[in-house]
Amino acid sequence: MKHTGITEQPEVASARTRFAVFGNPVAQSLSPLMIGAAFAEMGVDAVYSAIRAVDAVEVIQTIRQQGLRGASVTIPFKETIVPLLDAVDPDAAAIGAVNTVVNRGGRLTGYNTDGPGFIADLAEWLAIPGRTFVILGAGGAACAAVQALLKAGAKAIVVNRTPARAQALAGRFGCRWAAWEEIGSLTADCLINTTPLGMFPAVDVTPLAGSLAGRFPRVMDMIYHPVQTKLLREAAAAGAETRSGMGMFVGQGAEQIRLWTGLEPPLAAMRERIRERLAER
Ligand code: NAP
Repeated sequence: MKHTGITEQPEVASARTRFAVFGNPVAQSLSPLMIGAAFAEMGVDAVYSAIRAVDAVEVIQTIRQQGLRGASVTIPFKETIVPLLDAVDPDAAAIGAVNTVVNRGGRLTGYNTDGPGFIADLAEWLAIPGRTFVILGAGGAACAAVQALLKAGAKAIVVNRTPARAQALAGRFGCRWAAWEEIGSLTADCLINTTPLGMFPAVDVTPLAGSLAGRFPRVMDMIYHPVQTKLLREAAAAGAETRSGMGMFVGQGAEQIRLWTGLEPPLAAMRERIRERLAER
């Protein structure tokens, strides 16, 4: 991730450095497992826990009171934490959401690693510049994806259940939007599902009939639990190449570790730990 406006350097984690993920609920988060596995593999002596907070004010207070070196922020605090931080990375400010906080001597800076994690994973799959992506959904994840895709030189078309939100997101970033009913007539290199439809436990749900999803040569689902969603299974059966959200999840966590420690995270070990846990369920 390039930080054009913020130049502080990350500090390497020292003995029993503390990190946490904040959310509500938060018990289901796989971040403690993945980040913990990464720190162990890297030999970083750090603790990463899950903390359920009431609101973003409590998140900030807890980071300060407990002297956490950094934090992950998940639903429902990604947007509400933004105005409470001392500084916000320009990309996170453009998205309007923060999923990572770095504490540098009491100064809290917010970042969004969903976009970089998404792009890092996507780039392993296809060449992004000049390609057209249909983004299904217009929430926080869609916003991060659109911002990152446009920055990487791609084109995006936003399609959402509530058309006004698709129009608003497209208007913010200067890309196209289309009504849900128009999906069948859109031409694109890849469809990205950013809605939660098909996520555990509602695994028999899909945002699009497979015949429709299979119109696109590639289909990616941001959902990673289950790894093979109904959308991906049906799109593959209709001839599309598919990709789960697991690589993006690993990518966003890896970028958090880079921000917190300045060290390169062990991607393979992180991916393996998540794969094992999801296979157990
Ligand atoms: P969000 O802000 O709540 O947005 C959800 C979007 O899904 C909205 O556009 C909403 O449409 C749409 N939607 C919800 N229910 C729907 C339904 N029944 N039919 C059609 N559309 C529906 O959520 P988010 O933070 O963007 O997260 C979305 C998904 O991305 C989640 O599954 C999350 O786990 C996943 N995600 C994955 C990663 C990763 O690392 N792999 C990272 C971030 C997020 P309306 O506007 O009409 O309400």
